[in-house]
Parts: sequence; structure tokens; C-alpha cells
Amino acid sequence: MAKQFCETCGKQTEHREWIQQKPSMYGTSRKEKLKAFLDGFFSGWGGGGAAAIDLVDRYVICQACGRKTLQNHGEQFQ
Ligand SMILES: [Zn+2]
Repeated sequence: MAKQFCETCGKQTEHREWIQQKPSMYGTSRKEKLKAFLDGFFSGWGGGGAAAIDLVDRYVICQACGRKTLQNHGEQFQ
């Protein structure tokens, strides 16, 4: 948990980090999902996991009001 400013609350509140997998750019069929998985698997090995990070959105959720804020700027969230 980390204190962070919430626009809805208008003050610093406790926030919880939440990671959501992005909707895949691949199709939804079983075959396409397997392809997406394999692509992610191999690019993850070759590219140091950078591709895997691209597949998720990082949010912080205000523990006071539940406001969800997208936070994909790459900085380390403590
Ligand atoms: Zn809030």
C-alpha cells in the first residue's frame, strides 16, 4: 500500500496496486490464444520479459473511494 493523491477524495489516500491483463491483440479462438501465448513466451525469453510487461495495465485503486487510475508510466510503484 502507498499513499497517493486521489482526485475524487481530494487528498492523499491509501492506494493498492492492481494489474490487469490487456485485451489480447490476437483473436479469441483457441488457436489464436495459443499463438499469443507462444509469442509472449518466446519474446519473454528473448527480450528479457519486456513483451510480457506490455501485456498488462497497471492500476492503482484508492482504498477510500475505489477509484481506479491507470498507471502505465513505468515508474516503480512502492
Ligand atoms: Zn479516493
